[in-house]
Amino acid sequence: MRSPIVAGNWKMNKTVEEAVDFVNQIKDHLPDPSVQETVLAAPTIALVPMVKAAQGSPLKIAAENCYYKDAGAYTGETSPTTLYSANIHHVILGHSERRRLFNENDQMINLKVHAALAAGLCPIVCCDDTMGRRVAGKKVHWVVSRILADLHDLKAADVEKVTIAYEPSWAIGTGESMDPAQAEEGCYLIRQTIADMYGDEIADNVRILYGGSVNTSNINRLMASEDIDGVLAGGASLDPDTFLNLVNH
Ligand code: PEP
Repeated sequence: MRSPIVAGNWKMNKTVEEAVDFVNQIKDHLPDPSVQETVLAAPTIALVPMVKAAQGSPLKIAAENCYYKDAGAYTGETSPTTLYSANIHHVILGHSERRRLFNENDQMINLKVHAALAAGLCPIVCCDDTMGRRVAGKKVHWVVSRILADLHDLKAADVEKVTIAYEPSWAIGTGESMDPAQAEEGCYLIRQTIADMYGDEIADNVRILYGGSVNTSNINRLMASEDIDGVLAGGASLDPDTFLNLVNH
């Protein structure tokens, strides 16, 4: 049984003070994490004070990115082991803005996924629906090629620690969400791709979120879909009341 997740991604928004205020406003109104997990991804500088503010509550604080090395001469980057040591146990990787504005490609994201898992983090790997062909034995399958590339060479036991966020780029920040039936189709195809790589049992345990202009009007239909295990919301996560309405939809 996959437990659902409602996750927010603030991107490059909020001061440290605003971030801590937000956590204090929502932390006593969240569902029990055994029923549904709540995750909030925030700018790096706000993470440690947010973790402190969230202590004792079900809220999990996530980084929006990390590097694929643990330490060294990588000015400006954040180490996955440093995140873990600060009680930040989730990290978004491969967000479309990282791919588009900062030239991150699947190879780099794959390295980051490996490094995050090795450090003990749970990666939330974002992907769109770029299709590819995979030949397994005599069979040719249509698959979501980003999943093949981003999860390349992972151990089966690690794949279950990964959450996928299916985010069609045209739906991000545009106010135009994907029709829930189509979103379900995309998430189903991602699950099939994981099944193709790692088998049905593992694919059944991987959580797949939909992201792209999620709001309080579309969340119920999205989350009612069989292969959609939750949402990743950008704009709608910035206001505490709206985020709580998403979480307690
Ligand atoms: C996102 O940042 O991943 C996202 C989906 O943003 P929005 O909800 O604003 O479309």
